[in-house]
Amino acid sequence: MGPPGAGKGTQAVALAERINGAHVSTGDIFRANVAQETELGQAAKRYMDAGEYVPDEVTNAMVADRLAQDDAREAFLLDGYPRTLDQVAKLDQILADLDSGLDGVIALTVVEDELIGRLLERAKVSGRSDDTEEVIRHRQEVYRNETEPLLAVYRDRGLLIEVDGMGSPEEVGARIAEALSTRA
Ligand code: AMP
Repeated sequence: MGPPGAGKGTQAVALAERINGAHVSTGDIFRANVAQETELGQAAKRYMDAGEYVPDEVTNAMVADRLAQDDAREAFLLDGYPRTLDQVAKLDQILADLDSGLDGVIALTVVEDELIGRLLERAKVSGRSDDTEEVIRHRQEVYRNETEPLLAVYRDRGLLIEVDGMGSPEEVGARIAEALSTRA
């Protein structure tokens, strides 16, 4: 977990590889569907472009399908999900049905000014239609309102692992590895 621009995607790819698990990024799945102009992509696009969350029913059904696939059976790393309290409840159900569960929830912490700067830099190269300054600011606000409350939920469950997300991807990756090794 972490606000847009915290470096979730970069760290998630590396960590999924390390744990030999499926990297399940809801943002990536949505973007692939938008590119392929599927029905799911059409349903998601206008929310994404506006920096809003795609409705929970759509997102939850997609994650349920994805986690039921073979490559996610042994291990998976969720990237960008859950993002709402409804998604937390649904994820609990999905995992219970699969006789699975979460080992930990990693939250990357980054100061907001740094986030906006990173996202504006990314906007220059990404071509992502949701990387304009206005949408970037709105996405931070949506994160604060909808997703930040989830940190307390996972903290209460003893699952939250907060990691300083400032610095280079390598530095942050090393901090994550360190936090996981002291936990295991
Ligand atoms: P991301 O690449 O994770 O920043 O996701 C890009 C966009 O996809 C978000 O701004 C949302 O519009 C949508 N999205 C990704 N994950 C979720 C989620 N868990 N719930 C709702 N919308 C999501």
